[in-house]
Amino acid sequence: MASDGRARRAITPDFEDWGAINQKEGKRLASKTELALSIRIFFAALARANRIGHAEFRKDELTGFLVTRRRDDAAVATPSRQQVWQAIRRAKELELLDDESRLRCLVLPIHLWDKGVGGTTCVEHGLGGRWSPPRC
Ligand SMILES: [Zn+2]
Repeated sequence: MASDGRARRAITPDFEDWGAINQKEGKRLASKTELALSIRIFFAALARANRIGHAEFRKDELTGFLVTRRRDDAAVATPSRQQVWQAIRRAKELELLDDESRLRCLVLPIHLWDKGVGGTTCVEHGLGGRWSPPRC
């Protein structure tokens, strides 16, 4: 994980520090074009993350998540790969994503994420298992 230990800070939160999010709502917020792209990427990770905080995407799927759409759902603008990469880098700087995050897998910081159900693998990071299409 993070070589500088920033994203793996030794935090021992009490259970009362934890909450839950609605992952479908996270997907909706990832498409909110009023938000900075780095924040939208964070919401995309929250929407897709498995039990170990890995959010895998098919090739160019993350970019599709971030398309700007009109009210009638027509695509208006698609961020370039470079813009998505810059936003991932910014999300890492903001400690919203772990340094291991890539275009094909966004990784939530371990001190931020826990989930009681779902997979515990990541093909992109070589954590075993076979990639299966996510439900969102
Ligand atoms: Zn991964």
